Amino acid sequence: MPGVVCTSKFNADIEVDCLIIGGGAAGLTAALAASETGATVLIAEREKRLSGSTALSSGLIPAAGTKAQNNQSIVDSKDIFFADIMAKNKNTADVDHVKIIVSQIPRTIDWLSEKYDIAFHVLDNFLYPGHTNHRMHTVPEKTGVGLIHHLETAILMQDVTVATGVQVIELVVDETDKALGAICLRPDGTHEHIAAAAIILACNGYGANPALIAEHIPEMNDALYFGHPGNQGEAILWGKALGAELLHLSGYQGHGSVAHPHGILVTWALMMEGGIQVNAKGERFSNEHNGYSEQAVSVLGQEEKIAFNIFDERLAVLGRGFDDFNKAEESGALIKANSIEELASKISVEPATFCKTLAKCEQYAGGDQVDPFGRNFEPRKRLTAPYYAVKVTGALFHTQGGLRVNRNAQICRPNGVPFDTIFACGGAACGVSGPDVSGYLSGNGLLTALSLGQIAGSKAGIMTSRSY
Ligand SMILES: Cc1cc2nc3c(=O)[nH]c(=O)nc-3n(C[C@H](O)[C@H](O)[C@H](O)COP(=O)(O)OP(=O)(O)OC[C@H]3O[C@@H](n4cnc5c(N)ncnc54)[C@H](O)[C@@H]3O)c2cc1C
Repeated sequence: MPGVVCTSKFNADIEVDCLIIGGGAAGLTAALAASETGATVLIAEREKRLSGSTALSSGLIPAAGTKAQNNQSIVDSKDIFFADIMAKNKNTADVDHVKIIVSQIPRTIDWLSEKYDIAFHVLDNFLYPGHTNHRMHTVPEKTGVGLIHHLETAILMQDVTVATGVQVIELVVDETDKALGAICLRPDGTHEHIAAAAIILACNGYGANPALIAEHIPEMNDALYFGHPGNQGEAILWGKALGAELLHLSGYQGHGSVAHPHGILVTWALMMEGGIQVNAKGERFSNEHNGYSEQAVSVLGQEEKIAFNIFDERLAVLGRGFDDFNKAEESGALIKANSIEELASKISVEPATFCKTLAKCEQYAGGDQVDPFGRNFEPRKRLTAPYYAVKVTGALFHTQGGLRVNRNAQICRPNGVPFDTIFACGGAACGVSGPDVSGYLSGNGLLTALSLGQIAGSKAGIMTSRSY
Protein backbone atom coordinates (compact mmCIF):
# COMPACT_ATOMS: atom_id res chain seq x y z
CA MET A 1 0.00 0.00 0.00
CA PRO A 2 1.67 3.26 -1.09
CA GLY A 3 1.95 5.70 1.77
CA VAL A 4 3.48 8.91 3.06
CA VAL A 5 6.37 9.06 5.53
CA CYS A 6 6.55 12.13 7.77
CA THR A 7 10.02 12.86 9.14
CA SER A 8 12.24 15.81 9.98
CA LYS A 9 15.36 14.23 8.47
CA PHE A 10 15.61 12.22 5.26
CA ASN A 11 18.88 10.52 4.34
CA ALA A 12 18.93 10.19 0.57
CA ASP A 13 21.06 8.38 -2.03
CA ILE A 14 20.45 11.07 -4.67
CA GLU A 15 19.35 14.70 -4.46
CA VAL A 16 17.47 16.69 -7.13
CA ASP A 17 15.37 19.86 -7.25
CA CYS A 18 12.34 18.26 -8.90
CA LEU A 19 11.27 14.65 -8.73
CA ILE A 20 8.67 13.77 -11.34
CA ILE A 21 6.77 10.53 -10.73
CA GLY A 22 5.68 9.04 -14.06
CA GLY A 23 7.07 9.29 -17.60
CA GLY A 24 3.95 9.76 -19.76
CA ALA A 25 2.92 12.95 -21.56
CA ALA A 26 2.36 14.83 -18.28
CA GLY A 27 5.70 13.84 -16.73
CA LEU A 28 7.75 14.48 -19.86
CA THR A 29 6.14 17.89 -20.45
CA ALA A 30 6.68 18.82 -16.80
CA ALA A 31 10.32 17.72 -17.03
CA LEU A 32 10.97 19.93 -20.07
CA ALA A 33 9.41 22.96 -18.35
CA ALA A 34 11.20 22.38 -15.03
CA SER A 35 14.56 21.81 -16.62
CA GLU A 36 14.28 25.07 -18.62
CA THR A 37 14.25 26.98 -15.29
CA GLY A 38 17.66 25.54 -14.38
CA ALA A 39 16.30 23.05 -11.86
CA THR A 40 17.80 19.57 -11.69
CA VAL A 41 15.12 17.08 -12.72
CA LEU A 42 14.66 13.35 -12.33
CA ILE A 43 11.79 11.37 -13.81
CA ALA A 44 11.06 8.11 -11.96
CA GLU A 45 9.13 5.68 -14.17
CA ARG A 46 8.08 2.26 -12.88
CA GLU A 47 8.21 0.58 -16.31
CA LYS A 48 11.38 -0.40 -18.20
CA ARG A 49 10.60 2.12 -20.95
CA LEU A 50 8.52 5.25 -21.30
CA SER A 51 5.00 4.55 -22.46
CA GLY A 52 2.07 5.03 -20.10
CA SER A 53 -1.46 5.41 -21.37
CA THR A 54 -0.02 8.16 -23.55
CA ALA A 55 1.66 5.62 -25.85
CA LEU A 56 -1.56 3.58 -26.03
CA SER A 57 -3.60 6.65 -26.94
CA SER A 58 -4.48 8.09 -30.33
CA GLY A 59 -2.30 11.06 -29.39
CA LEU A 60 -4.90 13.73 -30.20
CA ILE A 61 -4.67 16.97 -28.19
CA PRO A 62 -7.42 19.60 -28.45
CA ALA A 63 -6.36 23.25 -28.37
CA ALA A 64 -7.84 26.53 -29.62
CA GLY A 65 -5.73 29.45 -30.81
CA THR A 66 -2.53 27.68 -31.82
CA LYS A 67 -0.15 28.58 -34.63
CA ALA A 68 -0.90 25.19 -36.20
CA GLN A 69 -4.60 26.09 -36.44
CA ASN A 70 -3.65 29.47 -37.87
CA ASN A 71 -1.38 27.86 -40.47
CA GLN A 72 -4.32 25.71 -41.59
CA SER A 73 -6.66 28.76 -41.63
CA ILE A 74 -8.87 27.25 -38.92
CA VAL A 75 -10.87 29.89 -37.07
CA ASP A 76 -11.44 28.97 -33.43
CA SER A 77 -11.31 30.62 -30.02
CA LYS A 78 -10.62 29.75 -26.40
CA ASP A 79 -14.14 30.91 -25.53
CA ILE A 80 -15.74 28.44 -27.94
CA PHE A 81 -13.47 25.63 -26.71
CA PHE A 82 -14.30 26.51 -23.09
CA ALA A 83 -18.04 26.47 -23.93
CA ASP A 84 -17.69 23.05 -25.64
CA ILE A 85 -15.96 21.56 -22.56
CA MET A 86 -18.53 23.00 -20.16
CA ALA A 87 -21.46 21.89 -22.35
CA LYS A 88 -20.13 18.33 -22.39
CA ASN A 89 -19.60 18.18 -18.62
CA LYS A 90 -22.95 19.94 -18.07
CA ASN A 91 -21.26 22.71 -16.08
CA THR A 92 -20.03 20.30 -13.41
CA ALA A 93 -16.31 21.07 -13.79
CA ASP A 94 -14.71 23.98 -11.95
CA VAL A 95 -14.94 27.05 -14.22
CA ASP A 96 -11.59 28.58 -13.19
CA HIS A 97 -9.80 25.25 -13.58
CA VAL A 98 -11.18 24.80 -17.11
CA LYS A 99 -10.30 28.40 -18.05
CA ILE A 100 -6.69 27.97 -16.88
CA ILE A 101 -6.30 24.79 -18.92
CA VAL A 102 -7.96 26.17 -22.05
CA SER A 103 -5.70 29.26 -21.91
CA GLN A 104 -2.56 27.22 -21.27
CA ILE A 105 -2.89 24.52 -23.92
CA PRO A 106 -2.24 26.66 -27.05
CA ARG A 107 0.88 28.06 -25.36
CA THR A 108 2.04 24.53 -24.58
CA ILE A 109 1.47 23.28 -28.14
CA ASP A 110 3.24 26.32 -29.65
CA TRP A 111 6.11 26.01 -27.14
CA LEU A 112 6.64 22.31 -27.91
CA SER A 113 6.60 22.91 -31.63
CA GLU A 114 8.83 26.00 -31.63
CA LYS A 115 11.33 25.01 -28.96
CA TYR A 116 11.44 21.25 -29.51
CA ASP A 117 10.52 20.95 -33.18
CA ILE A 118 7.44 18.82 -32.59
CA ALA A 119 5.50 19.28 -35.82
CA PHE A 120 1.87 19.41 -34.71
CA HIS A 121 -0.89 19.64 -37.27
CA VAL A 122 -4.66 19.70 -36.87
CA LEU A 123 -6.97 16.92 -38.09
CA ASP A 124 -9.39 18.80 -40.33
CA ASN A 125 -11.37 16.11 -42.15
CA PHE A 126 -13.92 15.37 -39.40
CA LEU A 127 -15.13 16.74 -36.09
CA TYR A 128 -15.09 14.74 -32.86
CA PRO A 129 -18.38 14.76 -30.91
CA GLY A 130 -18.96 18.01 -29.03
CA HIS A 131 -16.16 20.00 -30.69
CA THR A 132 -17.42 23.02 -32.63
CA ASN A 133 -14.19 23.45 -34.60
CA HIS A 134 -11.26 21.44 -35.88
CA ARG A 135 -8.76 21.54 -33.01
CA MET A 136 -7.35 18.03 -32.53
CA HIS A 137 -3.56 18.46 -32.72
CA THR A 138 -1.38 15.51 -33.55
CA VAL A 139 2.20 14.63 -34.41
CA PRO A 140 2.95 13.43 -37.98
CA GLU A 141 2.51 9.75 -36.99
CA LYS A 142 -1.01 10.48 -35.63
CA THR A 143 -0.37 8.08 -32.70
CA GLY A 144 0.33 8.21 -28.98
CA VAL A 145 3.53 6.25 -29.59
CA GLY A 146 4.62 9.06 -31.92
CA LEU A 147 3.81 11.67 -29.26
CA ILE A 148 5.87 9.86 -26.59
CA HIS A 149 8.72 9.45 -29.07
CA HIS A 150 8.81 13.20 -29.85
CA LEU A 151 8.62 14.16 -26.17
CA GLU A 152 11.39 11.69 -25.34
CA THR A 153 13.54 13.16 -28.11
CA ALA A 154 12.89 16.64 -26.68
CA ILE A 155 13.94 15.43 -23.22
CA LEU A 156 17.35 14.52 -24.70
CA MET A 157 17.84 18.23 -25.49
CA GLN A 158 17.55 19.03 -21.78
CA ASP A 159 19.58 17.88 -18.81
CA VAL A 160 16.96 15.54 -17.37
CA THR A 161 17.65 12.20 -15.71
CA VAL A 162 15.16 9.53 -16.74
CA ALA A 163 15.23 6.58 -14.35
CA THR A 164 13.18 3.64 -15.59
CA GLY A 165 12.37 0.53 -13.56
CA VAL A 166 11.94 2.84 -10.57
CA GLN A 167 8.60 2.55 -8.79
CA VAL A 168 7.95 5.24 -6.22
CA ILE A 169 6.32 3.56 -3.24
CA GLU A 170 6.34 6.28 -0.59
CA LEU A 171 6.41 10.05 -0.51
CA VAL A 172 8.47 11.68 2.22
CA VAL A 173 7.41 15.01 3.75
CA ASP A 174 8.32 16.98 6.87
CA GLU A 175 5.89 17.87 9.66
CA THR A 176 4.71 20.96 7.69
CA ASP A 177 3.93 18.74 4.64
CA LYS A 178 6.92 20.16 2.74
CA ALA A 179 8.24 17.65 0.18
CA LEU A 180 11.50 15.98 1.18
CA GLY A 181 11.57 13.29 -1.50
CA ALA A 182 10.47 9.72 -2.08
CA ILE A 183 11.36 6.10 -1.49
CA CYS A 184 11.56 3.93 -4.59
CA LEU A 185 11.59 0.22 -5.31
CA ARG A 186 13.91 -1.29 -7.92
CA PRO A 187 12.97 -4.52 -9.75
CA ASP A 188 15.68 -6.41 -7.77
CA GLY A 189 13.89 -5.49 -4.53
CA THR A 190 16.36 -2.81 -3.42
CA HIS A 191 15.21 0.58 -2.24
CA GLU A 192 16.49 3.99 -3.27
CA HIS A 193 15.92 7.27 -1.42
CA ILE A 194 15.62 10.35 -3.62
CA ALA A 195 15.63 13.77 -1.96
CA ALA A 196 13.68 16.46 -3.81
CA ALA A 197 12.56 19.99 -2.99
CA ALA A 198 9.47 19.55 -5.19
CA ILE A 199 7.51 16.50 -6.24
CA ILE A 200 5.33 16.39 -9.34
CA LEU A 201 2.75 13.60 -9.42
CA ALA A 202 2.45 12.59 -13.08
CA CYS A 203 1.52 8.96 -12.49
CA ASN A 204 -2.02 9.14 -13.99
CA GLY A 205 -5.17 7.74 -12.37
CA TYR A 206 -6.42 4.41 -11.05
CA GLY A 207 -7.84 2.63 -14.11
CA ALA A 208 -5.61 -0.40 -13.45
CA ASN A 209 -6.56 -0.68 -9.77
CA PRO A 210 -9.64 -2.95 -9.52
CA ALA A 211 -10.30 -2.09 -5.86
CA LEU A 212 -10.41 1.64 -6.58
CA ILE A 213 -12.56 1.09 -9.69
CA ALA A 214 -15.00 -1.02 -7.63
CA GLU A 215 -15.15 1.75 -5.04
CA HIS A 216 -15.52 4.76 -7.34
CA ILE A 217 -16.72 3.51 -10.75
CA PRO A 218 -18.71 0.31 -10.04
CA GLU A 219 -20.38 0.42 -13.49
CA MET A 220 -16.97 -0.39 -15.03
CA ASN A 221 -16.15 -3.14 -12.54
CA ASP A 222 -16.28 -5.98 -15.07
CA ALA A 223 -15.41 -3.95 -18.15
CA LEU A 224 -12.27 -4.34 -20.22
CA TYR A 225 -9.59 -1.89 -19.03
CA PHE A 226 -7.82 -0.51 -22.08
CA GLY A 227 -5.28 1.82 -20.46
CA HIS A 228 -1.77 1.28 -19.10
CA PRO A 229 -1.21 -1.26 -16.27
CA GLY A 230 1.05 1.23 -14.46
CA ASN A 231 -1.95 3.47 -13.66
CA GLN A 232 -2.39 2.01 -10.16
CA GLY A 233 -3.77 5.10 -8.43
CA GLU A 234 -0.85 5.98 -6.15
CA ALA A 235 -1.46 9.70 -6.65
CA ILE A 236 -4.89 9.54 -5.07
CA LEU A 237 -3.72 7.19 -2.31
CA TRP A 238 -0.88 9.56 -1.42
CA GLY A 239 -3.26 12.50 -1.69
CA LYS A 240 -5.67 10.82 0.69
CA ALA A 241 -2.86 10.07 3.17
CA LEU A 242 -1.76 13.72 3.01
CA GLY A 243 -5.29 15.04 3.54
CA ALA A 244 -5.46 16.61 0.07
CA GLU A 245 -8.79 17.17 -1.69
CA LEU A 246 -9.89 14.56 -4.22
CA LEU A 247 -12.56 15.45 -6.76
CA HIS A 248 -14.86 13.73 -9.26
CA LEU A 249 -13.50 10.23 -8.63
CA SER A 250 -16.51 8.76 -10.47
CA GLY A 251 -15.47 10.56 -13.68
CA TYR A 252 -13.76 8.62 -16.44
CA GLN A 253 -13.23 8.15 -20.15
CA GLY A 254 -14.94 5.12 -21.58
CA HIS A 255 -15.04 4.06 -25.22
CA GLY A 256 -17.76 2.24 -27.11
CA SER A 257 -15.66 1.04 -30.02
CA VAL A 258 -12.97 -1.51 -29.17
CA ALA A 259 -12.83 -4.34 -31.74
CA HIS A 260 -13.81 -7.60 -30.06
CA PRO A 261 -12.09 -9.96 -29.45
CA HIS A 262 -9.14 -8.26 -31.19
CA GLY A 263 -8.80 -5.51 -28.56
CA ILE A 264 -8.02 -2.72 -31.04
CA LEU A 265 -9.52 0.78 -30.96
CA VAL A 266 -11.73 1.52 -33.98
CA THR A 267 -11.84 5.26 -34.60
CA TRP A 268 -15.03 7.12 -33.75
CA ALA A 269 -14.52 9.17 -36.92
CA LEU A 270 -16.53 6.41 -38.63
CA MET A 271 -19.58 7.24 -36.51
CA MET A 272 -19.20 10.98 -36.91
CA GLU A 273 -19.04 10.67 -40.70
CA GLY A 274 -22.07 8.43 -41.21
CA GLY A 275 -21.49 5.06 -39.50
CA ILE A 276 -23.99 3.60 -37.04
CA GLN A 277 -23.90 1.07 -34.20
CA VAL A 278 -26.37 -1.80 -33.98
CA ASN A 279 -26.77 -4.51 -31.35
CA ALA A 280 -26.95 -8.28 -31.85
CA LYS A 281 -30.60 -7.89 -32.87
CA GLY A 282 -29.62 -5.49 -35.66
CA GLU A 283 -31.17 -2.44 -33.97
CA ARG A 284 -29.66 0.93 -33.15
CA PHE A 285 -29.76 1.69 -29.43
CA SER A 286 -28.41 5.26 -28.96
CA ASN A 287 -27.37 8.55 -30.54
CA GLU A 288 -23.81 7.72 -31.62
CA HIS A 289 -23.02 11.43 -31.84
CA ASN A 290 -23.42 12.06 -28.11
CA GLY A 291 -19.87 10.83 -27.56
CA TYR A 292 -17.78 7.69 -27.55
CA SER A 293 -17.15 7.87 -23.80
CA GLU A 294 -20.76 7.34 -22.64
CA GLN A 295 -21.22 4.92 -25.53
CA ALA A 296 -19.09 2.45 -23.52
CA VAL A 297 -21.95 2.16 -21.05
CA SER A 298 -24.56 1.86 -23.83
CA VAL A 299 -22.62 -0.92 -25.60
CA LEU A 300 -21.98 -2.79 -22.35
CA GLY A 301 -25.73 -2.63 -21.74
CA GLN A 302 -26.44 -4.67 -24.90
CA GLU A 303 -26.78 -8.45 -25.20
CA GLU A 304 -23.38 -10.12 -24.72
CA LYS A 305 -21.93 -6.60 -24.09
CA ILE A 306 -21.24 -6.16 -27.80
CA ALA A 307 -22.34 -4.06 -30.76
CA PHE A 308 -21.43 -3.79 -34.45
CA ASN A 309 -20.00 -0.66 -36.08
CA ILE A 310 -21.63 -0.45 -39.52
CA PHE A 311 -19.97 1.64 -42.22
CA ASP A 312 -19.08 1.66 -45.93
CA GLU A 313 -16.14 1.92 -48.31
CA ARG A 314 -15.94 5.75 -48.05
CA LEU A 315 -15.59 5.41 -44.27
CA ALA A 316 -13.13 2.53 -44.55
CA VAL A 317 -10.91 4.89 -46.56
CA LEU A 318 -11.22 7.49 -43.78
CA GLY A 319 -10.43 4.83 -41.15
CA ARG A 320 -7.30 3.74 -43.00
CA GLY A 321 -5.80 7.12 -42.09
CA PHE A 322 -5.45 5.74 -38.54
CA ASP A 323 -2.84 3.25 -37.46
CA ASP A 324 -5.22 1.37 -35.15
CA PHE A 325 -7.82 0.95 -37.87
CA ASN A 326 -5.20 -0.60 -40.14
CA LYS A 327 -4.21 -2.97 -37.34
CA ALA A 328 -7.88 -3.94 -36.91
CA GLU A 329 -8.14 -4.59 -40.64
CA GLU A 330 -4.92 -6.63 -40.67
CA SER A 331 -6.24 -8.66 -37.72
CA GLY A 332 -9.35 -9.61 -39.68
CA ALA A 333 -11.76 -7.53 -37.57
CA LEU A 334 -13.47 -5.99 -40.63
CA ILE A 335 -16.32 -7.93 -42.22
CA LYS A 336 -17.20 -6.82 -45.76
CA ALA A 337 -20.37 -7.52 -47.79
CA ASN A 338 -21.89 -6.33 -51.05
CA SER A 339 -25.40 -5.95 -49.70
CA ILE A 340 -27.18 -5.26 -46.42
CA GLU A 341 -28.67 -8.77 -46.46
CA GLU A 342 -25.25 -10.36 -46.98
CA LEU A 343 -23.76 -8.31 -44.11
CA ALA A 344 -26.66 -9.32 -41.83
CA SER A 345 -25.94 -12.95 -42.56
CA LYS A 346 -22.17 -12.55 -42.03
CA ILE A 347 -22.59 -10.92 -38.61
CA SER A 348 -25.54 -13.17 -37.67
CA VAL A 349 -28.12 -10.47 -37.00
CA GLU A 350 -31.76 -10.87 -37.98
CA PRO A 351 -31.83 -9.69 -41.67
CA ALA A 352 -35.31 -8.12 -41.64
CA THR A 353 -34.58 -6.06 -38.51
CA PHE A 354 -31.15 -4.99 -39.81
CA CYS A 355 -32.58 -3.95 -43.22
CA LYS A 356 -35.29 -1.97 -41.43
CA THR A 357 -32.67 -0.21 -39.28
CA LEU A 358 -30.71 0.88 -42.35
CA ALA A 359 -33.88 1.89 -44.20
CA LYS A 360 -34.84 4.09 -41.25
CA CYS A 361 -31.44 5.79 -41.32
CA GLU A 362 -32.10 6.55 -45.02
CA GLN A 363 -35.38 8.17 -44.03
CA TYR A 364 -33.71 10.26 -41.32
CA ALA A 365 -31.10 11.42 -43.85
CA GLY A 366 -33.85 12.24 -46.36
CA GLY A 367 -35.74 14.29 -43.78
CA ASP A 368 -38.82 12.03 -43.95
CA GLN A 369 -38.49 11.04 -40.31
CA VAL A 370 -36.69 12.26 -37.21
CA ASP A 371 -34.29 9.94 -35.39
CA PRO A 372 -35.89 9.11 -32.01
CA PHE A 373 -32.39 9.11 -30.45
CA GLY A 374 -31.89 12.68 -31.66
CA ARG A 375 -29.04 12.21 -34.13
CA ASN A 376 -28.83 14.45 -37.18
CA PHE A 377 -28.30 12.22 -40.25
CA GLU A 378 -26.75 14.23 -43.08
CA PRO A 379 -27.74 13.23 -46.65
CA ARG A 380 -24.15 13.44 -47.90
CA LYS A 381 -23.05 10.89 -45.28
CA ARG A 382 -25.47 8.12 -46.35
CA LEU A 383 -24.04 4.59 -46.34
CA THR A 384 -23.76 2.84 -49.70
CA ALA A 385 -22.63 -0.66 -50.78
CA PRO A 386 -20.22 -2.31 -50.21
CA TYR A 387 -20.81 -2.35 -46.46
CA TYR A 388 -18.54 -3.18 -43.51
CA ALA A 389 -19.04 -4.28 -39.92
CA VAL A 390 -16.71 -4.58 -36.92
CA LYS A 391 -17.82 -6.31 -33.72
CA VAL A 392 -16.97 -4.03 -30.76
CA THR A 393 -17.31 -3.83 -27.01
CA GLY A 394 -17.17 -1.02 -24.45
CA ALA A 395 -14.08 -0.36 -22.33
CA LEU A 396 -12.67 1.83 -19.57
CA PHE A 397 -9.82 3.96 -20.97
CA HIS A 398 -8.72 6.11 -18.06
CA THR A 399 -10.04 7.84 -14.95
CA GLN A 400 -10.74 11.57 -14.95
CA GLY A 401 -11.09 12.34 -11.25
CA GLY A 402 -8.10 13.06 -9.03
CA LEU A 403 -6.31 15.62 -6.92
CA ARG A 404 -7.70 19.13 -6.99
CA VAL A 405 -4.99 21.54 -8.15
CA ASN A 406 -4.79 25.34 -8.13
CA ARG A 407 -3.54 27.63 -10.92
CA ASN A 408 0.06 26.61 -10.16
CA ALA A 409 -0.88 22.92 -10.38
CA GLN A 410 -0.17 22.58 -6.64
CA ILE A 411 -2.39 20.05 -4.89
CA CYS A 412 -4.74 21.56 -2.31
CA ARG A 413 -6.35 20.80 1.02
CA PRO A 414 -10.16 20.78 1.22
CA ASN A 415 -9.99 24.38 2.54
CA GLY A 416 -8.13 25.45 -0.63
CA VAL A 417 -4.70 25.90 1.02
CA PRO A 418 -2.08 24.45 -1.31
CA PHE A 419 0.75 22.06 -0.52
CA ASP A 420 3.52 24.43 -1.67
CA THR A 421 5.93 21.81 -2.99
CA ILE A 422 3.65 19.02 -4.23
CA PHE A 423 2.18 19.31 -7.73
CA ALA A 424 -0.07 17.13 -9.91
CA CYS A 425 -0.71 17.00 -13.65
CA GLY A 426 -2.34 14.72 -16.23
CA GLY A 427 -4.49 11.90 -14.92
CA ALA A 428 -3.20 12.35 -11.36
CA ALA A 429 -5.08 15.66 -11.15
CA CYS A 430 -8.83 16.16 -11.37
CA GLY A 431 -9.63 16.83 -15.02
CA VAL A 432 -12.27 18.90 -16.79
CA SER A 433 -14.93 16.23 -17.34
CA GLY A 434 -16.93 16.43 -14.11
CA PRO A 435 -18.12 13.36 -12.19
CA ASP A 436 -19.74 11.38 -15.02
CA VAL A 437 -18.60 9.36 -18.05
CA SER A 438 -20.71 11.58 -20.31
CA GLY A 439 -18.67 14.64 -19.30
CA TYR A 440 -15.61 13.51 -21.26
CA LEU A 441 -15.08 15.65 -24.34
CA SER A 442 -12.66 13.99 -26.80
CA GLY A 443 -9.11 14.86 -25.89
CA ASN A 444 -9.75 15.89 -22.26
CA GLY A 445 -7.04 13.41 -21.21
CA LEU A 446 -3.99 14.72 -23.04
CA LEU A 447 -5.36 18.25 -22.65
CA THR A 448 -4.63 18.21 -18.91
CA ALA A 449 -1.49 16.08 -19.30
CA LEU A 450 0.26 18.68 -21.45
CA SER A 451 -1.21 21.92 -20.06
CA LEU A 452 -0.91 21.04 -16.36
CA GLY A 453 2.42 19.34 -17.11
CA GLN A 454 3.90 22.62 -18.35
CA ILE A 455 2.42 24.64 -15.49
CA ALA A 456 3.57 22.16 -12.81
CA GLY A 457 7.07 21.87 -14.30
CA SER A 458 7.68 25.59 -14.65
CA LYS A 459 6.27 26.50 -11.21
CA ALA A 460 8.11 23.68 -9.43
CA GLY A 461 11.28 24.49 -11.36
CA ILE A 462 11.20 28.21 -10.56
CA MET A 463 10.49 27.50 -6.89
CA THR A 464 13.24 24.94 -6.42
CA SER A 465 15.99 26.36 -8.64
CA ARG A 466 15.72 29.61 -6.62
CA SER A 467 16.02 27.72 -3.36
CA TYR A 468 19.69 26.83 -4.02
C1 LIG B 1 -6.61 3.63 -26.06
C2 LIG B 1 -6.57 5.03 -25.53
C3 LIG B 1 -6.71 6.10 -26.42
C4 LIG B 1 -6.68 7.41 -25.93
N1 LIG B 1 -6.69 8.44 -26.82
C5 LIG B 1 -6.60 9.70 -26.37
C6 LIG B 1 -6.53 10.79 -27.27
O1 LIG B 1 -6.46 10.65 -28.49
N2 LIG B 1 -6.53 12.05 -26.75
C7 LIG B 1 -6.53 12.27 -25.39
O2 LIG B 1 -6.54 13.42 -24.98
N3 LIG B 1 -6.51 11.26 -24.53
C8 LIG B 1 -6.53 9.99 -24.97
N4 LIG B 1 -6.49 8.95 -24.08
C9 LIG B 1 -6.23 9.28 -22.66
C10 LIG B 1 -4.74 9.61 -22.48
O3 LIG B 1 -3.98 8.51 -22.91
C11 LIG B 1 -4.40 9.94 -21.02
O4 LIG B 1 -5.30 10.88 -20.52
C12 LIG B 1 -2.98 10.52 -20.93
O5 LIG B 1 -2.08 9.68 -21.60
C13 LIG B 1 -2.56 10.71 -19.48
O6 LIG B 1 -1.21 11.08 -19.47
P1 LIG B 1 -0.37 10.93 -18.14
O7 LIG B 1 1.02 11.38 -18.43
O8 LIG B 1 -1.12 11.55 -17.01
O9 LIG B 1 -0.39 9.36 -17.82
P2 LIG B 1 0.44 8.12 -18.50
O10 LIG B 1 0.73 8.38 -19.92
O11 LIG B 1 -0.32 6.89 -18.16
O12 LIG B 1 1.79 8.15 -17.71
C14 LIG B 1 1.84 7.84 -16.32
C15 LIG B 1 3.10 7.05 -16.06
O13 LIG B 1 3.31 6.97 -14.65
C16 LIG B 1 3.91 5.70 -14.37
N5 LIG B 1 3.70 5.43 -12.94
C17 LIG B 1 2.53 5.20 -12.32
N6 LIG B 1 2.74 5.01 -11.01
C18 LIG B 1 4.07 5.12 -10.79
C19 LIG B 1 4.90 5.00 -9.63
N7 LIG B 1 4.38 4.74 -8.43
N8 LIG B 1 6.22 5.17 -9.77
C20 LIG B 1 6.77 5.43 -10.99
N9 LIG B 1 6.03 5.53 -12.12
C21 LIG B 1 4.70 5.38 -12.02
C22 LIG B 1 3.15 4.76 -15.29
O14 LIG B 1 3.86 3.57 -15.48
C23 LIG B 1 3.03 5.61 -16.56
O15 LIG B 1 4.09 5.38 -17.45
C24 LIG B 1 -6.53 7.65 -24.53
C25 LIG B 1 -6.41 6.58 -23.64
C26 LIG B 1 -6.42 5.28 -24.13
C27 LIG B 1 -6.26 4.15 -23.16
